[in-house]
Amino acid sequence: MNFQPVFDLKRPILIAGPCSAETEEQVLQTAHALKHQGIDLFRAGIWKPRTRPGAFEGIGTQGLKWLKRAKIETGIPVTTEVANAQHVYECLKFGIDVLWIGARTTVNPFSVQEIADALEGTDIPVLVKNPVNPDYKLWVGALERLHKAGLRRIAAVHRGFSSYGDSKYRNVPRWQMAIDLMQEFPEMEVICDISHICGRRDILAETAQKAFDLNFDGLMVETHPNPDQAWSDAAQQITPARFGEMVGALQRRAITSDDPDFLARMENCRSEIDDIDEEIISMIARRMNLVSEIGAIKKDKNIAVLQPERFRALREALQRRGEKNELSREFIAMFLEAVHQESINRQERILNPVAAAAPKQISDLWIND
Ligand code: PEP
Ligand code: MN
Repeated sequence: MNFQPVFDLKRPILIAGPCSAETEEQVLQTAHALKHQGIDLFRAGIWKPRTRPGAFEGIGTQGLKWLKRAKIETGIPVTTEVANAQHVYECLKFGIDVLWIGARTTVNPFSVQEIADALEGTDIPVLVKNPVNPDYKLWVGALERLHKAGLRRIAAVHRGFSSYGDSKYRNVPRWQMAIDLMQEFPEMEVICDISHICGRRDILAETAQKAFDLNFDGLMVETHPNPDQAWSDAAQQITPARFGEMVGALQRRAITSDDPDFLARMENCRSEIDDIDEEIISMIARRMNLVSEIGAIKKDKNIAVLQPERFRALREALQRRGEKNELSREFIAMFLEAVHQESINRQERILNPVAAAAPKQISDLWIND
């Protein structure tokens, strides 16, 4: 897929505005205050997909007039969320500059296709939020549907993923998924919606810095003149002034530098890393040779391949050792899981060559507690 930029080359791209358009005064007041903070795009939800009924579901079409007025008065382009073809037609009629597809819509290929069909023949930019569930293909699929409809000015918005259980985030970021998207589509702009990731204003700044460190092209931030009084998402909204302070305090990181000192120090570290990686591979190969030997011994004595107790003990010991070296338990578990699967494959090839030749999921075999 080939994409064209939605925004100009200025970085970071700043998108801000209230979660929902509530009153004409609130929309205009927020837009004017944000103009002074140098934003590139003003956002406000008109149709609000709420998780549960009874919450404020958006002001509807009349809000489009307020957005249009905000654009005329401030000169800042405006964006709102669309979830069906009717929303698209209304936005096109009112000259909304950019559309966004929300997380609860990206999840549904029927809805995304309906929106793509309604947009065919236009060249309006569209921002595509990740689906609520961490399904990379569904996110890419939504981008593809728009691309197939002839749109090229498409950008992605990372807003985190629903999860059940305790987390400091409202929607856990799972940064790797956004990084994968950046790597697969290097020319596409990827924006970080820190407000919906955090769900609370006290961790916005640290999350924005993280997004900058990961080279996101910009931020989407919910702002409101009286955040605590907001009709939706009150806990995560901040005032336009606070938004300006937060953005001003962020460390900008360059992608690279041609400073000779930088290049020399990087080269030193990288060549050492390359050596270590080679060593890791040959050590793993040595480990696997021992695994093959164990496979032969087990075959000889007719002993089962899978030894859950041994694996659990090994994992626990290495996790404890890892912790002493600032390696997280999760990392050690993932690393060992990969090594262990390869070991089981090896032993299976020795003990049960016929079954081992058939494609199957060895990971289903052993107990992951
Ligand atoms: C929003 O941006 O206000 C919104 C509803 O976002 P999401 O689709 O990410 O939940
Ligand atoms: Mn919101």
